[in-house]
Amino acid sequence: MPDYLNLRRLEGRIVALFLALLLVVQFASFGLIRSSIARNADASIASELKTGERIFRRLLSQRADKLHDAAELLAKDYGFIDAVGLPLAEQGTVETIKDALANQGDRIGASLVAYFDNDLKLVAATRDDAALISELQTELKPGAKPEAKPEAKPDAETARLALLGGQVYQLAWAPVKTPAQVGWILMGFALENVVLQDLQQLSELQAVLVRQDQPGHWLRLLSLLPAEMAQTLVAQIPAESGLFAASAGGENMRGFLAPLLDPVQGAQQRLGVLLLRSFDEAVAPYRDLQLTLLALTLIGVAVFALGSVLMARRISGPVKDLARAAEQLGRGDYQTPVQRASGDEVGDLAAAFEAMRQGIQARDARLNKLAFTDALTGLPNRSGFSEGLQQRLRGEAQPLAVLLLGLDRFKHVNDVQGHDFGDQLLCAVAARLQRLFAGRSHTLARLGGDEFVLLLTQADEAAARAAAEQIRKDFETAVSLQDQMVDLSASIGIVLAPQHGQEGKQLLSRAALAMYAAKKRQSGCVVYTAQLDVGSQESLSLLGDLRRAVEGGQLRLYLQPKVDLQSGRVISAEALVRWQHPERGLVPPMQFIPFAEQTGFIRELSRWVMAESVRAWAQLRQQELALRISVNLSTRDLMDIDLPAKIAALLAAHEAPTEALCLEITESAIMDDPQRALDTLNELHAMGFKLSIDDFGTGYSSLAYLKGLPVDELKIDKSFVLAMESDVGDAKIVRSTIELAHNMGLSVVAEGVETGKAWKMLAELGCDEGQGYFIAKPMPQEQLAAWLQAWRAPDLSQESVETLMGALG
Ligand code: C2E
Ligand code: CA
Ligand code: CA
Repeated sequence: MPDYLNLRRLEGRIVALFLALLLVVQFASFGLIRSSIARNADASIASELKTGERIFRRLLSQRADKLHDAAELLAKDYGFIDAVGLPLAEQGTVETIKDALANQGDRIGASLVAYFDNDLKLVAATRDDAALISELQTELKPGAKPEAKPEAKPDAETARLALLGGQVYQLAWAPVKTPAQVGWILMGFALENVVLQDLQQLSELQAVLVRQDQPGHWLRLLSLLPAEMAQTLVAQIPAESGLFAASAGGENMRGFLAPLLDPVQGAQQRLGVLLLRSFDEAVAPYRDLQLTLLALTLIGVAVFALGSVLMARRISGPVKDLARAAEQLGRGDYQTPVQRASGDEVGDLAAAFEAMRQGIQARDARLNKLAFTDALTGLPNRSGFSEGLQQRLRGEAQPLAVLLLGLDRFKHVNDVQGHDFGDQLLCAVAARLQRLFAGRSHTLARLGGDEFVLLLTQADEAAARAAAEQIRKDFETAVSLQDQMVDLSASIGIVLAPQHGQEGKQLLSRAALAMYAAKKRQSGCVVYTAQLDVGSQESLSLLGDLRRAVEGGQLRLYLQPKVDLQSGRVISAEALVRWQHPERGLVPPMQFIPFAEQTGFIRELSRWVMAESVRAWAQLRQQELALRISVNLSTRDLMDIDLPAKIAALLAAHEAPTEALCLEITESAIMDDPQRALDTLNELHAMGFKLSIDDFGTGYSSLAYLKGLPVDELKIDKSFVLAMESDVGDAKIVRSTIELAHNMGLSVVAEGVETGKAWKMLAELGCDEGQGYFIAKPMPQEQLAAWLQAWRAPDLSQESVETLMGALG
């Protein structure tokens, strides 16, 4: 359906409105013309009918004159006078009178001639109609008796109309004088069609002679119209006199009833002539005019329709263009400008649309930039990178390598040094990496937090590993920020396309897996393998297993002794958990502790370890071998405000003093929420527990920071102790750590004492205690008592540490 026929469309509405207006005007004028034609016709018919009445009366009076003249002529006829003078009883007298009457009657065509004596007794008549004669005599009752008025001019009134025998007669009287009056001559015409024909010739009227038989009910006497039609019309005569409308045989007429005979006193009959004029005929000439008008209207409508369609198109065309343009904007196509087609309001609208398009385009571009770039470093963000990666994967850039870098320990820098510092560090790293790969085709992006990703095109595994090594080398130079040197290190996960996937999302998640594996193994860089995925799925089912492990008694408590490095006496032991897995065998803690920390399950695990440790302590006490037992606490444990109460309850159950336990906390565990950790540590310290800082040296915290913590002991991380014998730098760190710790009033424990040389060196450096395979590997708790009884301090006199100590200066 075209728009100009659719009323829901602007075009259709304009066309419809125009046409409706035109039709209303046309119909109104048509109606007005029609009604004025009808009014005019009625007026002219009314006057025609009046004229007709006059003509009719005139016709009647002409005939009446004729009757009078004839009657008077006969009354004065000598032969007739002689005849009436004869005695009536005489044979032939009546016949003679009758002859004279007939002669005169024939001459003028009268239908009735009669002679009455002075007493109005009939003497002779041209018709032998007894009924008629008697009716005549009724008509001539005393009151109605004609008067002799020879001098008076006969008129319609004297030529009385009378209804005799169902026929209307015009009657004229003339007195017969000899010279004394001897009788009356009555002469009558029967009213016949001729009169009506005369009227029809003189006017265009039809006439029906009618009689009233009872008030309001008329009967037809005479007419030229078909009987049935005439009767129908007569039946429509209204009670009131005047012009009226009637119809018969499908023809509209106007009628007018003219009374002809006033009821003579006593007479019941009333006569009239119904004059009729065809209304349809009267307005026929105007019909043509109306048809012409109709034709004009139709032509006008057609022209208007065409004009309004064109006009509607002119209006709606540009509006449609605008709607199309707006749709385009809606679809997100901001490139095509909106054309201004005209200078009118629609044009203004188009201009406004164009301004809007430009605004949206600019904002869109800005939003795109915001959505795809990292505000801090200006590098692409995750979305931006994914988009680019997807494009490269579709293109010719393969093989390609994705390196995902996670900075180590960044969170702690952020927490300790503040977010501004952390932000600056991230920017510095971004700048470093950009500079490092400036020479080759690459894309660098920041995925969020401390994660960066590097895309290398046309790169295989060797090239990716080389790039990772390049980064590691570069990071060996510490970053200088706000007069501080910050050590950088990153764990890098590598994925390769197409080997490891063809889909950006999958590649990124696999790179993340590899990166986490690198973090866990502290191996710097790991290339994705399918086993990593399996590993992570395994770890998911691990949580369930771990729960069952605690409930099902699969955990084992191992103890590793710590000795006084000067005397060689065993003074405490560290509790280390093991998992005796029904299928996997003995699972080392590094395979489930980090996971337990992530999931929060560590709290239950720690509680188990603590309970077991207190029990072990109690058992050793029974054998008079009581040793302080060091228990490892994680971040999650420190965040538990009920922790001190829980430990206290455990101790109370075995009647153990707080001195029975030492609590080992890594610096990273404190850094996650330093304030809360500090609160817990203060509380534990106040309760009398010995507190120890584990893995010291691997984090960012300085000794100065430790000063604010309520700790008693510091454990130098085994990586320094193990390297000490071969690396002077590490040896120096160990030495200065021991000195500074002592200055702060802390005792020092060295982890990872694997050789007698290390023991001797540490002892010379003043380290208080030692722990390591040289003394004993962690052992099932039940074996410790026997081991203790067998323990003898080793003889270190053969160990020579002079060269090493000398190198330290
Ligand atoms: P850690 O607290 O630093 O524990 C010392 C780790 O060094 C132990 O590893 C121990 O077996 C190992 N070690 C001791 N002497 C030597 C040595 O001479 N040479 C070498 N190379 N290693 C030595 P393990 O038992 O595998 O525990 C690893 C880590 O697991 C622990 O590090 C600790 O962070 C965590 N962990 C173990 N048990 C528990 C526990 O019950 N609770 C918590 N929260 N963490 C635990
Ligand atoms: Ca420890
Ligand atoms: Ca440690």
